[in-house]
Amino acid sequence: MSLGQSVLVVDDEKQNRTLLAELLASECRVILARNGIQALERAREQAPDLILLDVMMPEMSGYQVIQALQQDDATRQIPVIIISALDAPADEERGLDLGAVDYITKPFHPSIVRKRVRNHLQSVHRRNLLENLAKIDSLTEIANRRRYDEALESEWRRCARSGSPLSLAIIDVDHFKRYNDHLGHAEGDHVLHRIACELNRFVRRPGDLIARYGGEEFVILLPNTDALAAANLGHEIRASIEALALPHPNSPVSRHVTVSMGGISAVPTGGEVDPKFFQEADAALYAAKAEGRNRVFWRHG
Ligand code: GH3
Ligand code: MG
Ligand code: MG
Repeated sequence: MSLGQSVLVVDDEKQNRTLLAELLASECRVILARNGIQALERAREQAPDLILLDVMMPEMSGYQVIQALQQDDATRQIPVIIISALDAPADEERGLDLGAVDYITKPFHPSIVRKRVRNHLQSVHRRNLLENLAKIDSLTEIANRRRYDEALESEWRRCARSGSPLSLAIIDVDHFKRYNDHLGHAEGDHVLHRIACELNRFVRRPGDLIARYGGEEFVILLPNTDALAAANLGHEIRASIEALALPHPNSPVSRHVTVSMGGISAVPTGGEVDPKFFQEADAALYAAKAEGRNRVFWRHG
């Protein structure tokens, strides 16, 4: 099974780490940590799918590690399997009460550890699939509003930390009510799907996101992108939608379907998204509509 999953193995004894690493090498990528501090660091940085955690370690016990993992948004979701020499029912109960998904006692049977890890990785995979499905818009098959909201929050914080510019564009189909009224809602749906596919071609870098915001509105989030680069991309996108040449028999703007776009670029500050960020892009979109549609307006925050 190779789904690109990873497991973090935390044990203060080298022999145990090596044994578990060999044992799991066929199942997943293995990350090693020799104490609690290292475990927390690696969990945060590498976001493993599962953690195998020893309990008795100097400085920080496995129980303390679980509690620290749960206090951090970045690591709270990662399931933990305790592997411990403490084999009394009370120990096992304590581990499970703290939120461990499983408890394996040492000395362990290698094949059983491997199978338990495999089962837990499979549940993680299924959970991820479901979570991702819940963030896809069913009509256009691109990210939905929920996914966009989450991405905006995390990219806002990331750009605030690094002092990098963040850009946002709102794209709205021009005279789309007239399109539906003339050609029917089903044709309208088809156009939204075509536009989404076209927009998707412009997602080039890992943090970039194109999402359907709602109705006939789309958003593009571009981290580490300044106003000049973002507005250039905006112009390219507007032109590429027009070049699709989807007939719009009742648009006062063009013979084809067109879009208007409002954008904003700013270096975020603070941990919370400033609502003005979206409002400014929306105001730019409003101006683009008022000036005649089929155009791009950009603001600098
Ligand atoms: P403007 O150029 O000012 O944006 O004009 P507009 O007609 O596009 O704007 P308005 O907000 O008046 O109408 C939006 C239209 O988009 C009306 C609605 O029926 C249509 N629409 C929204 N969501 C969907 C959808 O999922 N499918 C289809 N076919 N139409 C949709
Ligand atoms: Mg609209
Ligand atoms: Mg519209």
